[in-house]
Amino acid sequence: MGTEHKETILEVKNLKTHFFSGKKVIKAVDGVDFDVKRGETLGIVGESGSGKSITSLSIMRLIAEPPGKIVDGEINFKGKNLLSETEEGMRQMRGNKISMIFQEPMTSLNPVYSVGEQIAEAFRIHQKLPKKEAWQKAVEMLRLVGIPSPEKRAKQEPHELSGGQRQRIGIARALAVEPKLIICDEAVSALDVSVQAQVLNLLKKLQKEYGLTYLFISHDLGVVRHISDRIIVMYLGKVVEIAEKKSLFDNPRHPYTQALLSAIPEPNRKKKKERIILKGDVPSPIDPPSGCRFHTRCPLATDLCRQSDPELKSLGEGHQAACHYAEAIS
Ligand code: SF4
Repeated sequence: MGTEHKETILEVKNLKTHFFSGKKVIKAVDGVDFDVKRGETLGIVGESGSGKSITSLSIMRLIAEPPGKIVDGEINFKGKNLLSETEEGMRQMRGNKISMIFQEPMTSLNPVYSVGEQIAEAFRIHQKLPKKEAWQKAVEMLRLVGIPSPEKRAKQEPHELSGGQRQRIGIARALAVEPKLIICDEAVSALDVSVQAQVLNLLKKLQKEYGLTYLFISHDLGVVRHISDRIIVMYLGKVVEIAEKKSLFDNPRHPYTQALLSAIPEPNRKKKKERIILKGDVPSPIDPPSGCRFHTRCPLATDLCRQSDPELKSLGEGHQAACHYAEAIS
């Protein structure tokens, strides 16, 4: 699907978001580049501490400063650098152009207003609809995201709904402003596996019907696989691999991606792959390892890896990996 998409909606260039604590600098995102095309789902996967969520918060300019700061880079959204945008401009952007779906929608839903009112508010503000019409649109929206008895549910408060239903409300609210980009940050991580699948299928269905563009962030490669066209793998603040989904799963070229993939159970896989067990934990981003940041855990590490930081290099057909030996790995 990825190659059909031409127009770039979002372009992130050399993004660096650091956190400052006394004399310590935590390089949570340290030189990240990628783009998102209209109508695609770009997945970002990584363990906790990889910088994936800080990347999404940086795009929304929601990094608390201090202690955080975007110290370098560009975030071009439809040709405009969001890092030069005023606070008011960003508020407009967040309300109208870029929506976010969080892990726990309770954090973004107001607990004392009915869910119908909260969606209707978006229609009133963004489409300037009169009150009654906005309410009707909100009910329609609830039906669209698969909430049963939407007229009745619209009058309920968020705590009266299940986690899965609340996430559907979060999606409805995100869609109500007709955003150009929807960032889903661990959007299904708090849900049971069966509800997860329903919400992912709903997101896919809505994408097909409305041509939506998603940046989908998750620690779960299985979830990212279900929904993404292209996938970025992050490790310790850097992108280590980018590829079309099929290419990444059939032929991962970075040892870290290989290890992540080997941990996913694949009952139908013809050739059984041995699980790659990584040594130790993710190192601290305060003082990341020299050279390739993955070298302390990589089964293939050499002296070159310990000394020299590999650049992301192109391996053809949009597949890129940051490993000195990516060409030789298959
Ligand atoms: Fe492993 Fe070296 Fe490749 Fe880094 S550059 S992933 S340490 S082989």
